[in-house]
Amino acid sequence: MTVFCATSNPGKLREFLLAARCFAADQVRFQVLPGLDSVPPCAESGSSFEENATQKALHYSSFGPGIVFADDSGLVVPALDGEPGVRSARFAGEDATDADNNRLLLEKLAAASDRRAIFVCVLALAEQGRLRATFRGEVAGVILDRPRGAGGFGYDPLFYYPPLSATFAELSPEQKLQVSHRGVALRKMIGFLLAQASHA
Ligand code: IMP
Repeated sequence: MTVFCATSNPGKLREFLLAARCFAADQVRFQVLPGLDSVPPCAESGSSFEENATQKALHYSSFGPGIVFADDSGLVVPALDGEPGVRSARFAGEDATDADNNRLLLEKLAAASDRRAIFVCVLALAEQGRLRATFRGEVAGVILDRPRGAGGFGYDPLFYYPPLSATFAELSPEQKLQVSHRGVALRKMIGFLLAQASHA
């Protein structure tokens, strides 16, 4: 079964492809939506991960046949009233890089004693402009005061995961997928797809 993903984020895409191998033994194949670059971009105007993932999945799935999923994800920091949240990619500005966003996060947390953070991922699955389901994953960690590790993407070098005594950027891709917000959401979505296929 081929399912199209509507993402141009290479970090997310690598994790989707790994999940198909690890959680579905390649019974589910993920492929970037053909022509994604020429489809008008989707406004992400929602105030929750669910709203934004749903907006993206409905938008991109209306441009062709097939099942399409979209990922909306980010970092929720209680000491910053939930920031960067749905604005995680644009925390330091519209064209912010991961390094810009990480720098701003460290600045804002410089005086904070509560450094807890939660990564959230919501995947929305849609077919020809109709929503089929959403799947949510979360993982709790702590924001360090300097980056550690060279793997992953985004806020991974600052996100310390106590059960493995490492940041997400210090884990192998397989280790991160086993415990991450995206891994949890992908496992749920792949279970749903395989169950649907077995009833067809
Ligand atoms: P989106 O494309 O609007 O969903 O923005 C997602 C943003 O959240 C990314 O650009 C990263 O900054 C951050 N993010 C989401 N998932 C992860 C992750 O697994 N590791 C590190 N940062 C993440």
